[in-house]
Amino acid sequence: MHDRNNCRNYFIDTHAHLTDKKFDSDRENVLKRAKNCDVRKIFCVLSDFTERDIKIFEEILKDEDVFGIAGVHPHEAKSFKETENKLKRILENKKIVALGEIGLDFYYMNSPQDIQVKVFQKQLDFAVKRNLPVVLHIRNAYSQAKEILKKCGGKFLLHSFSGDFSDIEFFQKRNFYFSFSGILTFKNAGNLREIAKEIPLGRVLFETDCPYLAPQKYRGKRNEPAFVKEVYRTFAEIKGMEIEELKKTVLKNTENFFNLKFASG
Ligand SMILES: [Zn+2]
Ligand SMILES: [Zn+2]
Repeated sequence: MHDRNNCRNYFIDTHAHLTDKKFDSDRENVLKRAKNCDVRKIFCVLSDFTERDIKIFEEILKDEDVFGIAGVHPHEAKSFKETENKLKRILENKKIVALGEIGLDFYYMNSPQDIQVKVFQKQLDFAVKRNLPVVLHIRNAYSQAKEILKKCGGKFLLHSFSGDFSDIEFFQKRNFYFSFSGILTFKNAGNLREIAKEIPLGRVLFETDCPYLAPQKYRGKRNEPAFVKEVYRTFAEIKGMEIEELKKTVLKNTENFFNLKFASG
């Protein structure tokens, strides 16, 4: 079935919270299931800096197909003092290929706005110093984030993009990447599907954000990397393109954003 040209066509989940307790009972099987469903690369996000999470994270990173993303989430900005050194230490792990998810979340407002802004800026400096691309979590704070980001160089990915039409141009001009999650498949996400139409193909990545945001087909269930297929399927439909073509493009985009080169075959 697989000819030579097809061997680099597979699914990728660029945002999975695999250290979450919801995976404690079957983490290994979750990874196996992903591989069986042709989800061949997974990017695991560390945002809880407990001893337990760090241990699981480092263990998962030993898998050659799993890469790491680590950063202090805007929800946790208020405890940055306690986590700063842990973050610096963990960033020394060579399997960590991006800083994130960092940013601003003025929807839940789990940390005060001014602290979120300070911690965001501090971590942006970390990324510059280490030459790492940045995975952004921005919710209900796009105008504030744009103010900060327009002064920054570097490579950025808007994870689970939830901006509007006016944001696309700003980010597109600055070489940002856009990542879509299971939200794209939700019945009530017509607006996001309209926005997805406008995003240039060369800037698109996909994710699950599991265990959250299970796609429509699995809604209410725990999400996992194997389900990222549904996001690809929906996006291919929106763009009116073949899924194999989309896989190939997204693989290239993922390599470009994370500065990786996956082996072929
Ligand atoms: Zn997020
Ligand atoms: Zn996340």
